[in-house]
Amino acid sequence: MNILLMGLPGAGKGTQSEQIANDYLVVHIATGDIFRQAIKEETPLGLEAKRYTDHGNLVPDEITNGLVRERLSQEDVKANGFMLDGYPRTIQQAKALSENMDSLGSKIDAVIYIDVDPEVLKARLSGRISCGNCGATYHKLYNPPKVEDTCDACGAHEFYQREDDKPEKVAHRINLQMESIQPILEYYEELGLLHRVNGDDSIDQVYNNIRKILG
Ligand code: ADP
Ligand code: AMP
Repeated sequence: MNILLMGLPGAGKGTQSEQIANDYLVVHIATGDIFRQAIKEETPLGLEAKRYTDHGNLVPDEITNGLVRERLSQEDVKANGFMLDGYPRTIQQAKALSENMDSLGSKIDAVIYIDVDPEVLKARLSGRISCGNCGATYHKLYNPPKVEDTCDACGAHEFYQREDDKPEKVAHRINLQMESIQPILEYYEELGLLHRVNGDDSIDQVYNNIRKILG
C-alpha cells in the first residue's frame, strides 16, 4: 500500500505516521526528517537544504523531487510500500510524484489530509519537543513522555525544540504552506484519492479515523 499523509506543519503527520507504519508495515519517508539528518551530518544536501529550512522556506522542487525519486526506487520501498509524510508540498512535486509512480509501474492508494485549525497548529508547534537521541516527537502539554524527561522510545533524557518551531518562524511556515497545499488537495480530489480527517480531535481519535480509511 502506498499512502500520502498531508497536513500543515503541526497537523500531526509525524505522530500518526509512527502508528501507521507500525500497523501497516509500510516504509515511513518524511522529507523533513531526511533534510534534518542531512543537516546534522553536514552533507552537501544538508548544507544546501539548511539555507531554506532555517528560514522556514521550502527546499526547491528539483532537490526534493530528486531525493524522493531516489528513495522510492529502493528495494525496501518496492517490497513493502510507503507512506510519504510531508511530500508533496507543491503542485510541481505532486506532478513529479505521479510521473515517478508511472515509471515505477506503481500507484498511490490513498491521500490523507489531516485538517487542523491554524490557531491550533501554533499552539502545537510552540510546545513540540523532540528526543535528541532518536528524534521521537512529543508535546510538553498534549503528549508528554510517559515518564518525565525520558523518551518513551529510547529512554534518553535530552529533548530539544526545533529551530523552525520558534514562534517567529511558525507563522511564516503555516502561511506559506497553506497557500501551496490548496492546489495539491484539488489535484488529489479530482483523482478521487483524497480523504480528509479532522485533526483537531485527540491523537487516538485521529488514528481511529485514519484506520477506517485505510481499512
Ligand atoms: P507534523 O509532523 O504534522 O508537523 P507532529 O506530529 O510533530 O506534526 O505534531 C505536532 C505537535 O502536536 C507535536 O508536539 C505532537 O505531540 C502534537 N500533536 C499531534 N497530534 C495531536 C493531537 N491530535 N492533539 C494534540 N496534540 C497533537
Ligand atoms: P517538516 O519536518 O515536514 O516540518 O519539514 C521541515 C522543513 O523541511 C520544511 O520547513 C522545509 O524547509 C523542508 N521540507 C520538508 N519537506 C519538504 C518538501 N516536500 N518540499 C520542500 N521542502 C520541504
